[in-house]
Amino acid sequence: MIRTIVFYPDPVLRRTGDRVTEVTAEIRQLAADMIETMYEANGVGLAAPQVGVSLQLAVIDVAHDEECVSYLRVNGEEKRLGDICPLVFINPSVETVGAKESSEEGCLSFPDLRGDINRPGEVKATVETLDGEKLVIETDGLFARAIQHEVDHLFGKLFIDRMSSARKLAIRRHLKEMQDQFG
Ligand code: ZN
Repeated sequence: MIRTIVFYPDPVLRRTGDRVTEVTAEIRQLAADMIETMYEANGVGLAAPQVGVSLQLAVIDVAHDEECVSYLRVNGEEKRLGDICPLVFINPSVETVGAKESSEEGCLSFPDLRGDINRPGEVKATVETLDGEKLVIETDGLFARAIQHEVDHLFGKLFIDRMSSARKLAIRRHLKEMQDQFG
């Protein structure tokens, strides 16, 4: 089922999601719906708060382009993106490594808004799957960026927070319009 994506400035986007302590049938349905909703919106990631659910659960699929990362290790083993995408994960913690790189991002909760965001180029993320498996994901490129973007959502942080002050100034009117329309 396609879920309704909530837009900025919905307060749910600013909350830290609760950790998922028990994977119920409802949580599995939520994850399946989020994958469907992400594909329908042509996104590469979606976090539960973006469908109005304040939980530490997110989905990512960047496997349309195996070349968007230069390496991927899962629990120390070399993998292809297609092996783990679509990825559904809960209760993440992320260590970032590498110099910050700037790249353009969008967000399904901010239609028509894009911006260059500086983020570390590589991540080591420890996440859980719905089946209780622990995954340590080490990667770079678009996958590293998507993981950081989605994990930010689970802690109430948004990509506009990470824009340069010049870019923030430039989008002030756009944000004001969103506040008027969706606030
Ligand atoms: Zn987003």
